[in-house]
Amino acid sequence: MSRQCEAVKVVVRCRPFNRREETMDNDNILEVNTKLGQITLRNPRASPEEPMKSFTFDAVYDSESKQSDIYDDTVRPLVDSVLQGFNGTILAYGQTGTGKTFTMLGMPTDNERGIIPNSFNHIFTQISRSQNQQYLVRASYLEIYREEVRDLLCKDNNKKLDLKENPDSGVYVKDLSSVVSKNVTEIEHVMNIGDQSRSVGFTNMNERSSRSHAIFMITVECSEKGADGEDHIRVGKLNMVDLAGSERQRKTGANGERLKEATKINLSLSALGNVISALVDGKSTHIPYRDSKLTRLLQDSLGGNAKTVMVATLGPASKNYEESLTTLRYADRAKNIKNKPKINEDPKDALLREFQEEITRLKAQLEERGMLAKERRRRRNSRRLTKSMIVEDVAHREKDAELWKALEAEWEWNAKYYIKEEQESKRKKEEERSIAISRFKSMDNSVEGRSQKVVTSTLPIHRFRSVEDNPKKLLPTSAHSSPGAREKRKPFGEKEQMENERMMDHMQKEQESMEKIIEKYKAMESKILAGGKNIIDHTNEQQKMLELKRQEIAEQIRREREIQQQVMAQDEETGELRETFSSLQQEVDLKTKKLKRLYAKLQLVKAEIGDVIDEHVVTRQELEQTQNELTRELKFKYLLIENFIPPEEKNKIMNRLHFDSEEDQWRFRSSVTSERKSAYQVKRRPTSVVGYKRPISQYAQIAVTTGAQSRYRAENVMLLELDMSPPTMYNLNLNGAHLEQAFGGPDSPRRDLLVNVPFRDRTTASGRVRKSRSW
Ligand code: ADP
Ligand code: MG
Repeated sequence: MSRQCEAVKVVVRCRPFNRREETMDNDNILEVNTKLGQITLRNPRASPEEPMKSFTFDAVYDSESKQSDIYDDTVRPLVDSVLQGFNGTILAYGQTGTGKTFTMLGMPTDNERGIIPNSFNHIFTQISRSQNQQYLVRASYLEIYREEVRDLLCKDNNKKLDLKENPDSGVYVKDLSSVVSKNVTEIEHVMNIGDQSRSVGFTNMNERSSRSHAIFMITVECSEKGADGEDHIRVGKLNMVDLAGSERQRKTGANGERLKEATKINLSLSALGNVISALVDGKSTHIPYRDSKLTRLLQDSLGGNAKTVMVATLGPASKNYEESLTTLRYADRAKNIKNKPKINEDPKDALLREFQEEITRLKAQLEERGMLAKERRRRRNSRRLTKSMIVEDVAHREKDAELWKALEAEWEWNAKYYIKEEQESKRKKEEERSIAISRFKSMDNSVEGRSQKVVTSTLPIHRFRSVEDNPKKLLPTSAHSSPGAREKRKPFGEKEQMENERMMDHMQKEQESMEKIIEKYKAMESKILAGGKNIIDHTNEQQKMLELKRQEIAEQIRREREIQQQVMAQDEETGELRETFSSLQQEVDLKTKKLKRLYAKLQLVKAEIGDVIDEHVVTRQELEQTQNELTRELKFKYLLIENFIPPEEKNKIMNRLHFDSEEDQWRFRSSVTSERKSAYQVKRRPTSVVGYKRPISQYAQIAVTTGAQSRYRAENVMLLELDMSPPTMYNLNLNGAHLEQAFGGPDSPRRDLLVNVPFRDRTTASGRVRKSRSW
């Protein structure tokens, strides 16, 4: 077990100009020196004599670089480590549109495939070449968007998942699906499903993908016999992360939901930056992993038990200058993170172990069943034999048994055949039947005289018939072939028949469950991968050699680059020691030159400091602005609480709140403790039932459903509908018209009076009588 410190490997990739940038006449501001691993950035607005900013990395890739270059040079060693049981992480970092997704996923065409699909081929090829090892590979795919973790392989992918911590295996996502994959096709399918669900349902896919982090995880478990003769399991986890665009999300002018969104989107990446800073400066005792979901999940990859590669992506155009500079600074800082990777040996939660145990269990079960079936057959045989012995002569017992066995085997075979192939054509049935018959015949021939009679007159023929009686006609009858036997056949009693059917049933079930076990066994076993089959394959061998050579070359180049970088650094420091001066003038000249060089360097560093300060000022301003906006919102909430919520209610709520540090959230404590819950439920007043006007008791509810009379039935309450019809109005004659109505007829002369009452009078309030009121 090795436990050495290892720095995070940082490589930079520059993408080619895109069509729009070409037409817009953008300058190339990047100079990429792949040999030295150096990248130089020119400020498009600075004067030409201002020195350019250069950064050195483990490797740099220019716009001509191919996907396979990055894979072979940078990723392959990492994935090899994962196969050995190390944890590995690849992060793609950079501004939106600079090629993060292109580098990680790439295009479907063969030589445009990105890191993720290339790793599939790599992993499964390595497994197929392994010897005396068993592997289990599984994959998960998740996304972090607005600080929420979603499973991209789950149908219900809007469900938010929680992060949990386990002292053994660290931080993990609870309930995240992981798919066991047997080969490249399967794991590619997993990737495609995840990609689809990442884009489905969002109108602006690019917008979303630039604001969310996607993590593809592959877990490779490998079991191998150790020196102690025991199986040892090593587990390597590979995280491949396509980070959100590193450009600062605009927050200005946003408030409420929009502000919160922008804050959350920035949170993960700035938390990542803070973690990197804290890890690098060497003074921090606290690393703020818990500040965001992303940093929690990548805790191992940053300063922990993992080998990590960061691929920073850049655009070459001058309009990207600021963002490119920020990316390069970020990447430069990440170079200094030290990890402590180690092989994960025999972890408690290895799935491979579970699989192996399950397979052993199933195997044992199968064997046991096989034995059981044999045993049962043996017992049955002896039972039958006793029966026939009672009927027939003891002397032929052994021959009978033999015949029995043969017939029974045939019967079983027939039953199996018919269960399986019930739907098959009659032709085939006939064929099988004739085989059965011929077998039966041949057995008939083998037994002479009396025994033949015994057999035909007793069980076997009957058994064939009993099945013939069955409407399903499961088994063929031998009757057609041996007409002589038909006469000799004697029907058996009901009981016997039933028993036969029951046995038949039982055997069918047995067969089915056996098949199920076999199926499960096969499925499980197929998931465990073992190599070594193709090892003799000659072309394969050659390919392997070729790959090894390529790897060696890559390693050579890497070493060369490192040495060159070292030489460059040493040259600057020790150059003067080698210099000897022949004259004073020469010395002055050389020293002046050196002074100038150092002065330029000083200016560069000063400019750098100025830049960093400026950047900090901007960040600080933005943070202050966010803080102001959040304070304003907080004040508003306070105002509402203080003025519109009764103090006693507020206190009640406050007392029930508690802070869940695991989730980083305030939570409501349930007002009822679990042991009191049941009691509480019993005592609870029944809630109103829809359709009833008032709450009804449980008793009444039962009474209603059973139709029994109940004193509390809601139907007993009289329902009075509100009378919503407009009231009918008539006029009240204040001049004694009522008398006229009561006493005078229609011909009465006073009737005109009533007609002549002015309209205004008729509608006065006092003149209105409401006929009915409905409350
Ligand atoms: P990001 O994921 O960083 O937002 P993308 O990977 O979507 O960026 O890349 C943006 C565009 O640039 C895509 O159309 C992609 O095909 C193209 N691209 C990026 N990197 C390269 C490259 N190295 N070679 C060719 N095309 C590239
Ligand atoms: Mg992208």
